[in-house]
Amino acid sequence: MTFDEAALCESLKRNVSKSGYVKPTPVQKHGIPIISAGRDLMACAQTGSGKTAAFLLPILQQLMADGAAASCFSEMQEPDAIIVAPTRELINQIYLEARKFAYGTCVRPVVVYGGGCNVLCGTPGRLLDMIGRGKVGLTKVRYLVLDEADRMLDMGFEPDMRRLVASPGMPSKENRQTLMFSATFPEDIQRLAADFLKTDYLFLA
Ligand code: AMP
Repeated sequence: MTFDEAALCESLKRNVSKSGYVKPTPVQKHGIPIISAGRDLMACAQTGSGKTAAFLLPILQQLMADGAAASCFSEMQEPDAIIVAPTRELINQIYLEARKFAYGTCVRPVVVYGGGCNVLCGTPGRLLDMIGRGKVGLTKVRYLVLDEADRMLDMGFEPDMRRLVASPGMPSKENRQTLMFSATFPEDIQRLAADFLKTDYLFLA
């Protein structure tokens, strides 16, 4: 798959090309078609592999195809996609990449707070806090991305991740698409994958 062959609309392709990406990295080449096909995915991918674009592009494409428009009328954000990563720095990088790709489209990425949004990026603790205070509603979530899952475990976020996935309103794994990225695939990550992903999830290494 090249970016030209990818099932991405012209505005996304233009934004990819403006970013200077010419050739998809392996995780993009193999991951984008899997995610676009609606499958759950567990991908072993390091920082620097291009994993951010691998999950963002097919999610943004689908949200655009559905004409997802962020509602700014409500106090509560009801995102279509939630992206969880271990640190604010990483969340910020993901957000900047999402904003770059979503430029000129109807999709609105946001870091934890702001008006309406489609794609909400946050650390586990921050997201739980917003959900607990009724600022974020989960019923519309169709995509859940857990980035750098191994680092989140190392940092002691497993209880928070489990609490987030079990939060009131969060669609069950059968009713959402879940994507996990991790540099390694030890037993504790395998357990998380078994708990969070559909049984027929695909594994990409
Ligand atoms: P990531 O692994 O998502 O953190 O991406 C690592 C870096 O690679 C980021 O700075 C991206 O901007 C860059 N990058 C991602 N995909 C590509 C690509 N297909 N071609 C060139 N650079 C890329």
